[in-house]
Amino acid sequence: MPEQQPIVVVGGGLAGGKTVEQLREKGYAGPLVLFSTEPHLPYERPPLSKGYLMGESERDEVFVHDAVWYDEHDVELALSEQVASVDLAAHQVRTTSGRVQGYSNLVLATGSEPRRLNLTDLDAAHVARVLTLRTLDESESLREWLRPGVRLVVVGGGWIGLEVASAARKAGAEVTVLELDPLPLQRVLGAQVAEAFAAKHRREGVDLRTEVTVAGVVADGEGLRVDLDGGDAVGADVVLVGIGISPRTELAEAAGLDVDNGVVVDGRLRTSDPDVFAVGDVANAPYPRLGRRLRVEHWAAALNQPEVVAGVIAGGDATWDLLPYFFTDQYDWGMEYHGFADPRSQRVVVRGDLAGGEFVAAWLDDEGAVTAAMHVNQWDDGDAVKELVGTTLDAERFTDTGTPLG
Ligand code: NAP
Repeated sequence: MPEQQPIVVVGGGLAGGKTVEQLREKGYAGPLVLFSTEPHLPYERPPLSKGYLMGESERDEVFVHDAVWYDEHDVELALSEQVASVDLAAHQVRTTSGRVQGYSNLVLATGSEPRRLNLTDLDAAHVARVLTLRTLDESESLREWLRPGVRLVVVGGGWIGLEVASAARKAGAEVTVLELDPLPLQRVLGAQVAEAFAAKHRREGVDLRTEVTVAGVVADGEGLRVDLDGGDAVGADVVLVGIGISPRTELAEAAGLDVDNGVVVDGRLRTSDPDVFAVGDVANAPYPRLGRRLRVEHWAAALNQPEVVAGVIAGGDATWDLLPYFFTDQYDWGMEYHGFADPRSQRVVVRGDLAGGEFVAAWLDDEGAVTAAMHVNQWDDGDAVKELVGTTLDAERFTDTGTPLG
């Protein structure tokens, strides 16, 4: 009998960790290898910019499973091992250390790479003060800086930037946020809802500067100076760059898989090679309930897509049909968002107290159908908010808080 080749998973984030978990859950009993460039067990990222960053949760809580689980489930964790290439015809991956590993099925969970600023003018000591936040180690480095009196400049008013701003203000740091757009989160939430978030951050003491472009970061004594186009400058002890991420598609591309804004997968999360799947940030997948493809850079895709892949590999007929979902915590605002809207072309309707942070918002297409809905601090309505997506909304009834949401 020829030796059975393992299922190989590339990536040690939530998507990778969940893939091996789900394969065992669905009854796959064969060999299983997970490669990760990281030295750590597979871990989740939401706590890295929220509770763990603020020192409110323990390190153990970020891991998908503890080390014992992988032993007990006979999963080989090949940590600190980078897969350098995939040979689709030979069904093999090769690592930078020279290991050649055959596979029966391959699951790409390679995630994303943070975009960076050009820092060629800085020496190593000053470069060390310009951080990104993607990994556990980076979260721990940033946490060292979150204390009273430290001047933190955040470049980018997206989810990373605003969650870090919130954590840093809670820790007593002085925070400046620099955002290209007229409002942070405007691309995702549109002006009306984004304005509520902007005002909240300003009330919490953030110096939020919008429509600004960073011209460069230069040394200023031991610290840094962030120069802006137009001549302004902001002094910083530490700079956090949160200007978006790029999917890590190099392996897939070099192997010859279809890549177009991520690795293109079908409704079963299968790539253009039938034995190769992709999950999480890197997967450009169909979302049947939205009638479109999306590459979703949020926790819920990484959490839930592995179950589908495991179901398909285990011989079932699983299909990916969940809505996009994400959440954020900033100060005392907890938010959940379901679906996907383009606020530039879709109308938003709001129910509740937008400025006070107790509201539900829904985005409507031309026919009045809800493409996305979110709430801030309306936890009793959490399920009803999700159920709004796909329904047609009577805007007047919706905005009347006397009418039950469901
Ligand atoms: P992001 O959410 O895409 O936000 C990046 C922000 O930076 C955008 O507002 C962008 O403006 C702005 N920007 C881009 N280049 C800039 C520049 N040179 N100077 C100033 N501003 C600039 O990305 P992120 O905050 O870096 O987060 C990384 C990924 O992790 C994202 O996919 C995010 O969704 C995910 N994440 C999710 C959560 C959550 O779900 N709660 C939390 C953290 C991170 P434009 O819009 O004009 O490009």
